[in-house]
Amino acid sequence: MRFLTDVMMKKAGRWLRMLGHDVEPAESEDDDALLGQARRGGLILLTKDVELHERAQKAGIQSFLPTKKGNAKEVAEILAHFGLNADNFPSRTRCPECNGPLKEVEKKEVEGRIPQKSFESHERFWVCGKGGHIFWEGAHWKNIGEEVGKIREELAAIRGKIAAEKNLAATRGELSAGNEMSAGKEPAAGTEG
Ligand SMILES: [Zn+2]
Repeated sequence: MRFLTDVMMKKAGRWLRMLGHDVEPAESEDDDALLGQARRGGLILLTKDVELHERAQKAGIQSFLPTKKGNAKEVAEILAHFGLNADNFPSRTRCPECNGPLKEVEKKEVEGRIPQKSFESHERFWVCGKGGHIFWEGAHWKNIGEEVGKIREELAAIRGKIAAEKNLAATRGELSAGNEMSAGKEPAAGTEG
């Protein structure tokens, strides 16, 4: 399952990549170009633009229009809709910048490629296999972890709600099925007697 985001969903796209999901960077912000890219790549379009969403659907391009507001809620809504998980951070994180695969590298490999201060104060480094972007567990790491935690909570809440609704529907189904059965017995008994 591969995605493409419009400009309003760009931030959500970065978070989906950090959670290990495949979100191609948009080649252009232009609607026609986005639809073309989605079609060529077989990508699912994530958009907040109702008109663009409808155009995509009419053109036979899979598209999703999140309704929730706020990053964690929005990302969780997308994950829940497509049955995806939020478990692959940080083991399978993709480059938030360009969607390339990240690989952990030896410290010496990044020497001279990042600010000296960051090099000296950190031990673990990852390099993006596509754009060469370099990442380390810097000051932002804690915030990233906290946001991932929020996304996981929101996802669990959505899944819990869906499960509760299903249970309720199943219970109602059993009750109505039970009613039909007992209702059906009476006329049968009446016919016999
Ligand atoms: Zn990259």
